[in-house]
Amino acid sequence: MPDPFTLADRVALVEAARDVAGSGLVVGASGNLGIRRGEHLLITPRGSRLNAIDPADCVCAALADGRVSPDHARSSLPSSELPLHLAVYAAAPEAQAIVHTHSHFATVLSTLVDEIPPIHYVTTEFGGPVRVAPYATYGSVELAEGVAAALAGRSAALMANHGAVVTATTLDRAVEQARQLEWLASVFWHAHVFGTPTLLGEEQLGAVDAQDRALRGR
Ligand code: 13P
Ligand code: ZN
Repeated sequence: MPDPFTLADRVALVEAARDVAGSGLVVGASGNLGIRRGEHLLITPRGSRLNAIDPADCVCAALADGRVSPDHARSSLPSSELPLHLAVYAAAPEAQAIVHTHSHFATVLSTLVDEIPPIHYVTTEFGGPVRVAPYATYGSVELAEGVAAALAGRSAALMANHGAVVTATTLDRAVEQARQLEWLASVFWHAHVFGTPTLLGEEQLGAVDAQDRALRGR
């Protein structure tokens, strides 16, 4: 099947990547982004700075086996986290976009805790407390499987001693939620520096879900 992604898709991915870099969620050539459509995904190229990607260097690959599209005319390779993107899409049918960052506070917390507990009501936007996937080498299938498991019922996870990953139904939403996750991590960190933060309970989180349905229709 031919590469289903248009130039507009590639430009949108590159602009989202620039947005992630501009938001300070990555340093140097770290982080990656992708979208999926049908039987394929489109992913940022390996080793790229997210603020300087040529749209034609983004790589289309098959969801079934990660094989790069025969239409790919550049020497660029898919992100080393291709296995992670494949595993997440396989485990989460609703996920249409993935943003992986090394954002500061998320990475700090990934070395210290097992989850970001419900310190603020935006926790509900991620499906609950944000889990930390076990450490494994970047680009490995082991890391991919650990992240996919940590994302069960969630749209965000931290990656121990590495960074963060967010999924969403659109690319714009994934970028926005990557910023939101970093903000949540920073709130938890700063609250913890000063003491033991009060956390929200099941009942309070349930009330937020009900309010979302009543006021935001979701
Ligand atoms: P890539 O440049 O290969 O996407 O790797 C960046 C990264 O963050 C690996 O975890
Ligand atoms: Zn990384």
